[in-house]
Amino acid sequence: MSAEQNTADPNKEEQENLNVLTSTQLVIKDALIKLGYGQEMYELVKDPLRVLTVRIPVRMDDGTVKVFTGYRAQHNDAVGPTKGGIRFHPDVTEDEVKALSIWMSVKCGIANLPYGGGKGGIVCDPREMSFRELERLSRGYVRAISQIVGPTKDIPAPDVFTNSQTMAWMMDEYSRIREFDSPGFITGKPLALGGSLGRNTSTARGVAIAIAEAAKVKGIELQGARVIVQGFGNAGSYLAKFMHDVGAKIVGISDAYGALYSEEGLDIDYLLERRDSFGTVTKLFKNTISNQDVLVRDCDILVPAAIENQITIKNAHDIKAKIVVEAANGPTTLEATKILTDRGILLVPDVLANSGGVIVSYFEWVQNNQGFYWTEEEVEDRLEELLIRSFHTVYETARTRRVDMRLAAYMVGIRRMAEAVELRGWV
Ligand code: GLU
Repeated sequence: MSAEQNTADPNKEEQENLNVLTSTQLVIKDALIKLGYGQEMYELVKDPLRVLTVRIPVRMDDGTVKVFTGYRAQHNDAVGPTKGGIRFHPDVTEDEVKALSIWMSVKCGIANLPYGGGKGGIVCDPREMSFRELERLSRGYVRAISQIVGPTKDIPAPDVFTNSQTMAWMMDEYSRIREFDSPGFITGKPLALGGSLGRNTSTARGVAIAIAEAAKVKGIELQGARVIVQGFGNAGSYLAKFMHDVGAKIVGISDAYGALYSEEGLDIDYLLERRDSFGTVTKLFKNTISNQDVLVRDCDILVPAAIENQITIKNAHDIKAKIVVEAANGPTTLEATKILTDRGILLVPDVLANSGGVIVSYFEWVQNNQGFYWTEEEVEDRLEELLIRSFHTVYETARTRRVDMRLAAYMVGIRRMAEAVELRGWV
């Protein structure tokens, strides 16, 4: 989390809405109006149908007990079971988890996956916890939410600061509670426990595919294109590697503590080798800049791949990129989206750009349900086909309905859910 995020600036709050839930609701409202739905539909989908708050006691390594707060939000299950990751982060809030669950619904809708959106979060700092403490926390969380989740109810996955090991503990705990093997309870598992080939890199692969399509539309050659990636976690680090491998020049990267920028391009293989499991790498360098500063440096393609509210009215006018592709969830505010769009910058919104993660999670769940596993090539081909189709559906909607890419993505993403809600007679 950047220092900037933690500093309360009352003027900033006044000028711009940084509450991700209320800003998401505004876009949902606009999308429903454009699709011809009324107030009742909005009342139903503006919030999750269910949010569970849990308190999880964890025995720490020093013998004391610490109580952690966690959430699981299930936005809407009219289309099918809810789906979405679990994040471990000190700044997790209920509103954030709710917004993230709505974003998951939109994401699943764009890719036409048979899911609604869900999301979980635990307020904790995994960077300051031991391996065993994290295991006890993960298992405790599953015990606390076990009644409302399951392979045909709500299927979790990794998110910020959780990974395949976290998923393995959670799957094991769930299987013990239910007393049968339940690989389809959670996705993003290690391969040995029924994970899918290609899941680990899928978010980044999807972002790379979205970048390639956006670059075609904008007439930008990827070979030699200058790319800045903010965030060096699962999405950011693999993305930097993929872009480097197709001949782009990664001129900037960042982590929670700072950023590196070099016009000649950074040595991505070296950085990947030296990053820790939380994506921290800049601490090894002396000449760093801030992770806010890196956003406004010269580049062709900017990829915010960290956390929410990074591109705001404060810096949107200074962004130099021609394309902004959101690998993170919610990195650009609504006001900033408008500024970038008015400036002719092509913004590929999170719900489209980072949907590769949940798409391959869906493939993993399908494989678990069938007990039949695909090759890496099959996974990647299907991901590419789905993402290219999603990109062009959203792009065409934006063009023909004369709306920005975010609103277009919400229109495409909420359509099936609204139809399912109506068909079930809920509204
Ligand atoms: N956490 C990822 C997301 O925000 C993946 C969710 C999933 O695979 O279910 O899209």
